[in-house]
Amino acid sequence: MAGAELIGKEELKELTVLFKTGILARYSLDKERQGIWKVRDFEKAFARYFGSSYAQAVSSGSCALKVALTALDVGPGDEVICPAFTFMATYEAVLEVGAIPVMADIDDTLNLDPDDIPNKITPRTKAIIPVHMCGAPARMDKIMKVAKKHKLLVLEDNAQACGASIKGKYTGTFGQMGIFSFDHYKTIVTGEGGMILTDDLDLFHRAEWYHDHGHDHLSTVSRALDGRTILGFNYRMNELQGAIGLAQLRKLKRVLSAQRKNKAAIEAMLAPIPGLKFRAVPDPEGDSATHLAFNLPTEKLAKAFQKALSAEGIGTTCFKENFWHYVPNWEHFLAKSTAQTKSAFNDPRNRKVTYSRKAIPRAEDLLGRTLIMGINVKMPAAALKKIRKGIEKAAKAL
Ligand SMILES: *Cc1c(COP(=O)(O)O)cnc(C)c1O
Repeated sequence: MAGAELIGKEELKELTVLFKTGILARYSLDKERQGIWKVRDFEKAFARYFGSSYAQAVSSGSCALKVALTALDVGPGDEVICPAFTFMATYEAVLEVGAIPVMADIDDTLNLDPDDIPNKITPRTKAIIPVHMCGAPARMDKIMKVAKKHKLLVLEDNAQACGASIKGKYTGTFGQMGIFSFDHYKTIVTGEGGMILTDDLDLFHRAEWYHDHGHDHLSTVSRALDGRTILGFNYRMNELQGAIGLAQLRKLKRVLSAQRKNKAAIEAMLAPIPGLKFRAVPDPEGDSATHLAFNLPTEKLAKAFQKALSAEGIGTTCFKENFWHYVPNWEHFLAKSTAQTKSAFNDPRNRKVTYSRKAIPRAEDLLGRTLIMGINVKMPAAALKKIRKGIEKAAKAL
C-alpha cells in the first residue's frame, strides 16, 4: 500500500501552510497566496526527480490519460493498442477521446508484448499505451523500436509503477508522454491525483491548456486576461493535493527501498518451490516492487497453492479472474454499454473491433497460473516470519 502507509506529520505540515492563506486553488490569487504554490512546486519537483522536461499535474490518473491522449491528438477514427491486462481506465480514456482501444497480448513481463503489436496494427492505429502493471516495466526498448518503425505514438500508463526504471531510465519517460496516478492504492498518494510527463514543449502546452479551459497561464495581471488557443475543460489538481504530493514525493525513495527489501525476502522464501517461476522483469534492480508475481506450471497447481496460502492468511490475486484488470472479464465493456447511446463504439468513423480471448493466448495461459502478492512498505520481521511459515506449509499442498 506504499505511500498511504506513510501518511503522517510531513504531509500535515505541508497542508498546514495552506491554512495560513486559505488559498486552495492552484492558479492566480498571486497576492493572497503569499508566495505559496504547492501544485507548481510538486510539478517542478516531480519533473526533476524523473529527469523529464515538463510535468503537468491533473485531478486523477484517469484524467491524465485523457488529457495526454487529447494532447497527442488521438480522436475518432483512431485506434490505440492497449494490453489485455490493465486497469479499466486505460481503455476508458481511449473511448473518452472518441477513439477505439485495440486489445493486445502480454509477454512474460505480464505487460504489453512488443511482438504482438504488429499483429494488431491497422491503417487507423495511431498510438500504443504500454502499461507497467503491478510495479514492473514492460519491455520499453523493444516497444519503442516497434513504435518508431510503424510511426506510432507511445503514451506510457505508469499509474502502477512510479519510480520503476530500466537501466536507470524511469518508466513514464520513454514514450512521447507518460502518466502517473496518486490514488489511494498507488506508490505515492494525494487522495486523488495524476501527473503527465513529457519532454515535448508543444505536447506539454496542449496538455496544460486543455486541462484548464484553454488558459495559457501567462497573464501577470489577472486570470481573466490569460491568452487562449484551444478549448479545454477542467482537470486541475488543487493545492491540498499538491501539498501532500510534495511530502509523498520526498518519501518515494524510502518507499521503493523498503518494498524492494521486503520483496526480495519473500522471493527467497518462494524460490525453492519446484516449478515456480518469477515474472520476468527487464531490469530487476529497477522493479518498484509494489507486487511480487510468480507462476506455476498449471492453472490447477496455481489454484491449489493460492488456496493453501489463503488458509495461512497470505492473500494473492489471480488476475485472470479479476473483475477490474482483465479485459475479457469486463461485461459492460464487452457489451459496449455506455452512458450515452452514441459513443466511440458506434461512431461510423471507427472500425468495429472485437475483444476475444482467442486474440490473447499468452494472457489466457500465463495470467491463469500467475499469482500476485502485494508488497507493503511496513513488513516487520514478525510478519515476514509468519509469511515464511505460511509459504512452507502451503508448499506441501503442491
Ligand atoms: C489507477 C490506474 C489508473 C487510473 O488512475 P486514477 O488516479 O485511479 O484515476 C490508470 N491506469 C492504471 C493501470 C491504474 O492502475
